[in-house]
Amino acid sequence: MHDLVVRGDTMDIAVQDGKIVAIAPDLPGAAEEIDARGLHVFPGLIDVHLHFNEPGRTEWEGAATGSRALAAGGGTLFFDMPLNSTPCTVNAEAFDRKHAALAKSSITDFALWGGLIPGNIPEMAELADRGVVGFKAFLCDSGLPEFPRADDQTLFDGLREAARLGLPVAVHAESQELTQPPRDRASIKAFLASRPVIAELEAIQRATLLAREAGAKLHIVHVSSGRGVALAAEARAKGADVSIETCPHYLFFTEEDVERLGAVAKCAPPLRDAAQQDALWTQLLAGAVDIVASDHSPAPPEMKSGDFGKAWGGIAGVQSTFSVLLDRGYHCHHLSLDRIASLIAAEPARRFQIPGKGSIAIGMDADLALVDISRSAQLSPKHLMQRHALSPYVGSTFRGCVVRTIRRGETIFASGEITARTRGTFVRPSLH
Ligand SMILES: [Zn+2]
Repeated sequence: MHDLVVRGDTMDIAVQDGKIVAIAPDLPGAAEEIDARGLHVFPGLIDVHLHFNEPGRTEWEGAATGSRALAAGGGTLFFDMPLNSTPCTVNAEAFDRKHAALAKSSITDFALWGGLIPGNIPEMAELADRGVVGFKAFLCDSGLPEFPRADDQTLFDGLREAARLGLPVAVHAESQELTQPPRDRASIKAFLASRPVIAELEAIQRATLLAREAGAKLHIVHVSSGRGVALAAEARAKGADVSIETCPHYLFFTEEDVERLGAVAKCAPPLRDAAQQDALWTQLLAGAVDIVASDHSPAPPEMKSGDFGKAWGGIAGVQSTFSVLLDRGYHCHHLSLDRIASLIAAEPARRFQIPGKGSIAIGMDADLALVDISRSAQLSPKHLMQRHALSPYVGSTFRGCVVRTIRRGETIFASGEITARTRGTFVRPSLH
């Protein structure tokens, strides 16, 4: 008898020791049975870009609360960015500290990004040995003095080292020179104008050129504009090995929402106008976007209120990725459910070489999100599992919601409650 069988409308899925062992109609009974008839079964969401800020800034989020929020949104695996934890993950010792902290507190599986900053190229090989999924670099100020931006020499040398190690470099693509703080720092309009689309385009152009020359894999995080995706896709067509990520907030909110909502919707690159958002959707529907990730970057409420200029830039949306893709994607733009599965699971696992994850097939980990695509729900602060119940999505109504999340055969979220009994485990790329 198997450990678990998930009964679907046309197929059942049997699970043994956390792995999928059979997919067929009318499978025999198991120790645990889950009725998924009337629901859609997706692979568990893999969030390749978020900031749980542990260790060091656990009061901003932490993996205990962050991973619960991820699970409530259908997530089973996340890749934590090398900042804004302290220390930043720029050497093996910092990696070990973060690994130990997350292994104790995360209910989902997790992987770690290393950092690429001036001076740490000699550390990259050891970080690769530890199992990082890649190296993150900023092309403009990161907001943290301990994580300085990569100048062109650092980026180019880092790309060559990453290529040697078989790992991608992820870039925050905004030009330093074209993103100068506005004179009127409290003005929302001045902030938006200070980080224009051209700053993104210039950085994408430079990073794709250097990556191609270095023979490196490049992952462009949080592309905010249709023009940015088009430019990166053009570089790919010319032979650069580029993957393109966008975030749910660029697909859901516009700059008018920043003016309406204030600091809770402040992020970099900033939210764009409706025309640029339409262009982003056009690119996504045409297949140019590979991955959608939350870039969940929370901060305590006192850092997300008051003076807009001083407020922390970052959107806390780890729980809402599926909601946005189902509501705006599937229901409004006819994005197929298969494409959604590709954006949130298959491509994240393929691009970052994570074995056993990202699809529903025999031999794969039984990481599943059970989704009711027609149920509508309004997001209220009491639904949020993250540390601070702050999110620009609060008050929005979404058609389509996650009703159960299963991580390696264990239900970790069901009926609005976290049910995890065991911790998540560390996963690492398998390099060929
Ligand atoms: Zn980020």
